[in-house]
Amino acid sequence: MSRIVFVNGAFVPEDEAKISIFDRGFLMADAVYEVTSVLDGKLCDFAGHVARLHRSLGELGMPSPVNDDELLAIHRELVARNGIEEGVVYLQVTRGAHDRDFAWPEGLKPSLVLFTQARQIVTSPTAAKGLRVISIDDLRWGRRDIKTVQLLYPSLAKMEAKRRGADDAWMVMDGKVTEGTSNNAYIVTRDGTIVTRNLSNDILHGITRASVLRLASDAQMKIEERPFSIAEAQAATEAFSTAASSFVMPVVEIDGVAIGDGSPGPVARRLREIYIETARAQAV
Ligand code: PLP
Repeated sequence: MSRIVFVNGAFVPEDEAKISIFDRGFLMADAVYEVTSVLDGKLCDFAGHVARLHRSLGELGMPSPVNDDELLAIHRELVARNGIEEGVVYLQVTRGAHDRDFAWPEGLKPSLVLFTQARQIVTSPTAAKGLRVISIDDLRWGRRDIKTVQLLYPSLAKMEAKRRGADDAWMVMDGKVTEGTSNNAYIVTRDGTIVTRNLSNDILHGITRASVLRLASDAQMKIEERPFSIAEAQAATEAFSTAASSFVMPVVEIDGVAIGDGSPGPVARRLREIYIETARAQAV
């Protein structure tokens, strides 16, 4: 069965989906996106993803192509049509099509594209093993809080990690970790405090981050939101990352140095369990 995707108002087989070559998402990376995970055929943290989509659109002065009820209905129909029990829904809004020019006219019609990806997120073998990461300079633009499709640098960083036999890269600016190529980064200090960079324009405001920090706080865990260095991470007892497409992922090695005993730590494993349990219970 061919995958059914959503393009500008229509559900069509993926090989029939069409977008103009003049679309500014294609020519200028003038587009924003969201990735929402699916468990038991339902959407996790959906309200958070919709809120961040509105924020990204607002920051770029782009109108929303559909209202929130329509957005939920499109997500649900796509999940149902593709029989997705576990995986993700990818959504992209572009500014629309116009003959190539840096300036764009008012009133462009935004494009809306969604597709599903079936994926085992809960029983991921990587979660059991933990990730090995490298550090790399953060050379992205200065508005990383907007979830744009300008993903070339993080893609290059991830390829560099693979080339060096690792799984991912943590990006570093002014000596401090910003985030992973497609996830937020955390360490656990010797006294059990969870440390993750504070929110600013330097990082994406992860929806999984917000949920995990809330759950950690409910579980009486200590949290510090501040930048940390690679050296501090290497001396930590644990490290982990969060993202909608992977939930909580233990990090067991940074630049060849084992974190703690080199296996997934108890805080990351516990947060992963609590997050999955809560996301499942609250999915819509
Ligand atoms: N940081 C970056 C750079 C990302 O690309 C992502 C997800 O794609 C995240 C953090 C995690 O965000 P979320 O938890 O909303 O998936």
